[in-house]
Parts: sequence; C-alpha cells; structure tokens
Amino acid sequence: MSMKKGEKRGQPQRTCIVCGSKRAKAELLRLALDEESKVCLDYRQRYRGRGSYVCPRPECLTRVKLAYLEKAFRRSLPEGAWNPALTMAEALQRCSVQFQEQ
Ligand SMILES: [Zn+2]
Repeated sequence: MSMKKGEKRGQPQRTCIVCGSKRAKAELLRLALDEESKVCLDYRQRYRGRGSYVCPRPECLTRVKLAYLEKAFRRSLPEGAWNPALTMAEALQRCSVQFQEQ
C-alpha cells in the first residue's frame, strides 16, 4: 500500500481524543464503529470508516468519554456506544467478528 500524498515521511500522525497529544498512528489504539454504532477496538487499524485514536495507557483509556468519541466520529452516538467496563478481550472480539464478515 502506498502512502497518501501530503503525509510526511514515516508514520502518519494522529491525535489522542483524550489528551490531545500527537503520536505516530501505529503508537495509538484505533477505535472504530461497528454496525450498531458501538465503539470497538480496531487493533489492526484497518476497519472501514472513520477512526478515532487514543493513547494505549491507562490515563487516557480510562478517561474516554462518549462526548470525545462523538466529536471524533463527527456524529451523535447511541447511549452505550462506549462501555467503559468493556474488557479489552470483548472490544477486540467485536472487531474480529466484523473482519470475518467482510
Ligand atoms: Zn492520550
């Protein structure tokens, strides 16, 4: 896959939706929306549609709020779209299932 024009050499940069720090895309966790507009963890960073990014550290992960996600995805999300109690395993599985269905 070739790089998009306009991107600097090396990794494209993305911004964490919680702390606002810019990092290489590969250093952040990508969140995507599944068919039901629920947030899933797109660990392969390939899930279709708009993504939002968060630092892979507890300080940011535990402070993800629906409002941040709505801003990042530029749309309103249903209540429960983001479940802070969702375990990593569940979040991962959600996107894995979607991958297999494609
Ligand atoms: Zn962060």
